[in-house]
Amino acid sequence: MPETAEWKQKYRTSLLEMEVEEKRWRDVEQVLRRLIGRLCAAGMGVDPKLDDELQALAAANRRNADAQELERLAESLTSAVVAVDATSPVLQLVVPLPPRLALVAKPERWKSTCAAVAALLERLKMDETDHSTLNSLAAELASAETDQALATVVARAADLIHERGQSLAHERLQAAAVLSEVTKRLEEMANYLWESNSASRSRFDDSQSLNDTVMSHVRDLSDEVSGAAELGLLRSAVSARLELVAEQVCAFRAREATRMVEYNGRAEHMRERIADLERETQELHCKLDREKHGARLDPLTGVANRKFFDEHFTQENALRAQGGAPAGLLLWDIDSFKFINDSFGHRAGDRVLQAVAECFKTALRGSDFVARIGGEEFAVLLRGLKLAEAVNVANQLRTTVEGLRFHFRGTPVRVTVSCGVTELNPDDAPEAAFDRADAALYRAKNAGKNLCVAA
Ligand code: GH3
Ligand code: MG
Ligand code: MG
Repeated sequence: MPETAEWKQKYRTSLLEMEVEEKRWRDVEQVLRRLIGRLCAAGMGVDPKLDDELQALAAANRRNADAQELERLAESLTSAVVAVDATSPVLQLVVPLPPRLALVAKPERWKSTCAAVAALLERLKMDETDHSTLNSLAAELASAETDQALATVVARAADLIHERGQSLAHERLQAAAVLSEVTKRLEEMANYLWESNSASRSRFDDSQSLNDTVMSHVRDLSDEVSGAAELGLLRSAVSARLELVAEQVCAFRAREATRMVEYNGRAEHMRERIADLERETQELHCKLDREKHGARLDPLTGVANRKFFDEHFTQENALRAQGGAPAGLLLWDIDSFKFINDSFGHRAGDRVLQAVAECFKTALRGSDFVARIGGEEFAVLLRGLKLAEAVNVANQLRTTVEGLRFHFRGTPVRVTVSCGVTELNPDDAPEAAFDRADAALYRAKNAGKNLCVAA
């Protein structure tokens, strides 16, 4: 029982925490909505058709339209922007400017809008442990030169908020369901205890009344014995009294047997409910474990995320410092990934990330560890391998990726990766191996990419 009470408390607390969290996300959504309003205002006056689209979007935003409607309006706005891009002399003048000139020509309101989007991304970081997507969005924002590029960043930030909101709502529903189940079980147990109490009270009353009846028969019998004149009358009086007592005892026994059957039935039912509760606790524990594990994985590629890598890397360094087996560290970066995104779209870029991660997972041994540690950056820890062996593995992985023959919507996309390789040293400072591999990766990039360099 105390354990169940602890649970109840625990789920109440997490329910409260989730409500607070939900409120924070609603605040973020408000900021985003204000931002959409500002962007709409900033874009007015370029073209009448564009103005219509912007007005419709601003109006939908003001009445808190749902994500689907906003997405539909955003698509229609994008088409309008593309159409205006093709025809408007104003935009034609702006778009072809070389980047440095374009920067100089940026109006104040563009800068303040970018600053607001950057602040929003920073705010989002406070609620996310995995910052790789937000960092890459911040990088895209910093290099955004057109309204379309800016709109893409805002749309992806909106997607992130929407996803987070949905997962929070889901967690809250789950916790609420568990809480209501626990409450139901607690009520059942309280009921059971009340029934057991009242059953033992009625048993006590019943045996008390049997006692009283028998005692009164004994008293009556004693009076009859003292008043009896002859033996025959005495005998029949005694036997009549004894029969009455026997009847009372039999009736008491029958009631007792019925009570016993009821009690056993209730106890059995209760045992089953407790077993159910234990099973559900177990399932819940497993589920929490699975979710905890899920929080360590990168959702896009399914490999470990940065946080999990950092934990693993710290452990591996500690083992090495204590004289454990050697270990190799490979830091990877996909070559010219921005070009892939820009030429084939962000979705193609995502597919490439998945394909590279899959390639690493398939080629590595069970004792190796692969993680996505940044936008298009991966890290691999090779347990038991010295530097030369780690370089061999790195080159095998590199050539496997090169031979991927990746296609997106029928078009071949060349994918290559560069790698910095190092071995963990027993006397390394905590980040030393990582910094060595990072410097080697930098050299691989400068030496022409699609290379593995050892350090
Ligand atoms: P280099 O060969 O020097 O590494 O150049 P690069 O283009 O690969 O590197 P850069 O750092 O210029 O660009 C990385 C790009 O990766 C920018 C960012 O938008 C993109 N990116 C980061 N995370 C993701 C993601 O989750 N999905 C997609 N599709 N792109 C991402
Ligand atoms: Mg990179
Ligand atoms: Mg890269």
